[in-house]
Amino acid sequence: MKALWFDPAEMLIGGEWMAGAARLDVEDPSSTDIIAQISRGQTGDIDKAVEAAENALVGDWGRMPAFERGRILARLGQMVLERAEDLALIEAMDVGKPLDQARADARALARYLEFYGGAADKVMGETIPFQDGYTVYTLREPHGVTGHIIPWNYPMQIIGRSVGAALAMGNACVLKPAEEACLTALAFARLAVEAGLPDGALNVVTGLGEEAGAALASHSGVHHISFTGSVGVGSLIQQSAARHIVPVTLELGGKSPQLVFEDADLDQALPFLVGAGIQNAGQTCSAASRILVHEDLFETVRDRMAERYAELKIGPAVNNLDVGPLISARQKEIVEGFLAQVEADRIVGQATGIPHSGHFVAPTLISGITPDHPLAQQEIFGPVQVLLPFRDEAEAVRIANGTDFGLVAGVWTRDGGRQMRLARALRAGQVFINNYGAGGGVELPFGGVGKSGHGREKGFEALYGFSTLKTVAAHHG
Ligand code: ADP
Repeated sequence: MKALWFDPAEMLIGGEWMAGAARLDVEDPSSTDIIAQISRGQTGDIDKAVEAAENALVGDWGRMPAFERGRILARLGQMVLERAEDLALIEAMDVGKPLDQARADARALARYLEFYGGAADKVMGETIPFQDGYTVYTLREPHGVTGHIIPWNYPMQIIGRSVGAALAMGNACVLKPAEEACLTALAFARLAVEAGLPDGALNVVTGLGEEAGAALASHSGVHHISFTGSVGVGSLIQQSAARHIVPVTLELGGKSPQLVFEDADLDQALPFLVGAGIQNAGQTCSAASRILVHEDLFETVRDRMAERYAELKIGPAVNNLDVGPLISARQKEIVEGFLAQVEADRIVGQATGIPHSGHFVAPTLISGITPDHPLAQQEIFGPVQVLLPFRDEAEAVRIANGTDFGLVAGVWTRDGGRQMRLARALRAGQVFINNYGAGGGVELPFGGVGKSGHGREKGFEALYGFSTLKTVAAHHG
C-alpha cells in the first residue's frame, strides 16, 4: 500500500521495532484484497512490552517533567496534522471508512494530543485544612503501566483519547490495537518515536484478542486497563483484571436514542438523525440507532428520513461517499442476521446501489416494531436505525431508558423546561440538546452507565481516570 511508509509487521517494544514469530493478513474491507501483514503478537511479546514500560517509568520517561511530556504530545499532534492525509488513506483502506471520515479521525487524534499536551502540567492536587500541627495535601500520580485494548472502528480517535491522556499523566502504555485495524496505531507509534517519546513509554503489540489481548488484560505488571469494545469482551477483561485488583475503564457501546418532540426544528435535526446512524456504516459506539418521535410528527420524520436513505451513496472508502463497507465478513453476517429478524414490510427506507464485492450492507430504516424487539434492544453495529413513536414525555423517557445500555442521548425540542428535565431523566453518559455528538468534542467527558461501561474518557476527566490520588499528611507540630 502506497501510503504505508513503514513495515507494518514490526511492533514497537522498548523503542525497538521487531517482528513477531507469526503474521496476520490485513484485509481492505472495500475490496476484500489483502493489503499488508501484521505480526501476531504472543504472550511473550506482551511480557516484553510490560517490562519495557516498567523500565521507562524508572528511566527518562518517569523522570521527565510534566511540561516536557506535554511538549512531546503537542509536537506529536503537529506531526499527525502534517501526515493527516497519509493517515486518513491508511485508515480508509484498513477500516473501510470513507476518506472524509478518516480525515476527521486524523484531525481528532491531533486535537487529543494538543489538548492533553496542554493539560499535562495542569493537573494539580489540593491542600486540605486539617488539625493543628499538620499540613495535608494530595498528589495526582500515574498508575504506572497502563494497558490499552482498542477496537477497529475508530482507531485514531481512541488512541488519542486513551493513550494521549495516559501519556500526559506520565503512565507508560502498552497498546493492543484490534487485529482488524492496526495500521494507524503502528503509524502513530512511528510518529511518537520521531517526536521524541522515550523508549518504552509507548509499546504497541499487534495480534489477536484472545492471545495478545488476553495476555495484556491478565498481566500482573499492568496497573490500569482501558478497554473499548464489545460487552462480552469487556466483561472478560474486567474479570481478568479483577484477579490482580487492577482498575478498568470500559466503554462498551450502546443503543443510543435521539428523541424528536413535536416542537423540534426538523430541518436542523434531520441531518443528525440520519448522520448519527450511518456514520462509519453504523459501526460507532454512540450511533443513534433508535429514533424516538412524537406521534404527531412520526410520519413526517419517517418519510423525510426515508428520502435521505434513498439518496445515500455507498461504495469503496477511497471513493469518499456517504457509506463504506462493514469491517469484515463476520460483521456483515451479524448485521444481516439482525435484518433477517424483521419482515420486509418493516423496512421503510433503504439505500440502493450496493457494490457486490466488499463487505457492504444497505443502510436500512426500520419502523413498526415494538421497543422490546431485539432490533430495538441490541447493539447492531451496522447502518440500521429503528423508528419508535411516543405519545408524551413520560413515554419517551421510558422507551429511551428501556435498554441495558446508557451511552449517549439526543433531544430535539424548543421547550427549555423539557430540555432541562430530559437532561436529568435520561440514563446516559452524555446528553445532547438540539445537536448530537457536538462534533466529537475532545474536551467533553465520555463514557456510559449500565452495559455501556464505566469510567470516563476524554476531557480533563480522563486525566483523573489515568491517575491515582495520594494523600500526604505531614505532622510538624
Ligand atoms: P468486536 O466484537 O467489535 O470486534 P471486541 O470486543 O471483540 O469487538 O474487540 C475489541 C478489542 O478487544 C480488540 O482489540 C480485540 O482484539 C480485543 N479482544 C477480543 N477478545 C479479547 C479477549 N478475550 N481478551 C482481551 N482482548 C480481547
